[in-house]
Amino acid sequence: MSPNISEDDINAVADVLRSGMLVQGENVEALESSIAEYVGVEHAVAVSNGTATLHISLVALGVGPGDEVIIPAFSYVATANVVEIVGAECVFVDIEPDTFNIDLSKVEAAVTSRTKAIMPVHEFGLACDIDPLVELATKHGLPVVEDAACALGATEKSKQVGSFGTVGSFSLHPRKSVTSGEGGILTTKDDNLADSFRLLRNHGMLTKDGSMDCVLPGFNYRMTDFQAALVRGQFAELDRKISHRRMLAKAYFEKLGDIVGLTLPALPEGKDHTWQTFHVVLDDGINRDMVIAGLRKEGIGTNLGAQCIPAQTFYRETYGKDCNEQFPNAMRAYEQGLALPLFDKIGTEEVDRVTESLRRVIAS
Ligand SMILES: *Cc1c(COP(=O)(O)O)cnc(C)c1O
Repeated sequence: MSPNISEDDINAVADVLRSGMLVQGENVEALESSIAEYVGVEHAVAVSNGTATLHISLVALGVGPGDEVIIPAFSYVATANVVEIVGAECVFVDIEPDTFNIDLSKVEAAVTSRTKAIMPVHEFGLACDIDPLVELATKHGLPVVEDAACALGATEKSKQVGSFGTVGSFSLHPRKSVTSGEGGILTTKDDNLADSFRLLRNHGMLTKDGSMDCVLPGFNYRMTDFQAALVRGQFAELDRKISHRRMLAKAYFEKLGDIVGLTLPALPEGKDHTWQTFHVVLDDGINRDMVIAGLRKEGIGTNLGAQCIPAQTFYRETYGKDCNEQFPNAMRAYEQGLALPLFDKIGTEEVDRVTESLRRVIAS
């Protein structure tokens, strides 16, 4: 995690602080319109983080007790937590072993009469098979919430993620490609849903003819204006940042290709990966935690960005799934996966250094 904050970004924040207009002002509005335009949707609604976006989505779609939401077994836990928080049930579907995205071929079998929504994740910056997934959901009359938390800028068939489903959900946390510190963005083409999102982020208060009225119980999920100011300049640089990441990923593919014991991430045709994370999977015979420790000794930090959610204590105790049996790919990605350093601030010499260390550590 190494956010790239420029002096201009810092000055933009300072300007807002000096203005005294701290909450949800002109920077939030400007950020919303530039993201709506970039993603190719009518509405973008900024909120306080990328979990609030998912929470608001489920509330606005009326998901609650007795309902089921289909999600991938491998993601950051927030994807499942919001389902629990609205009182619904998670229906976990295994992922593909090398894209780390939900296995489309297993989704239809997970649909029941209680399914209320499908919430796929574009994991690590790669679009899942979103177009056919939305088609399947539409056939069953189900809304799709795209958890695109770490995939701003990712595309399928040249179309931006966040524009396929009923709702797109993005995070602006420092681990993502552009950051407001904490922050999240909802995208939708649906005018009514956008109105619900705006109400739900602001206590359910509707301003009409200059007076305010609470029309439904909402949250305070607003974004501050200085957070929006922090991210606007970075967002303007997003495509350049993604190109840099693609260049680093390409260097990883070239250098890692001949290391035995390693599965590299897949790059399916028709999708542009944004490489928020370069996630490799070690063969079963290799002790992943020893590799992490070995790399750390050489000054290389790696991280584990996602979990096999049904294997986490709460979900194991609540759902009682045999993860090795039911979600073998999610379990392998979780237990043998490794995210290699890939940041704005590093160049290909760092990729060389990481690769050589990894070669040594795996061989030892
Ligand atoms: C980061 C992330 C979230 C949560 O976003 P926050 O802004 O940290 O709340 C949710 N889902 C996925 C897939 C993520 O990567």
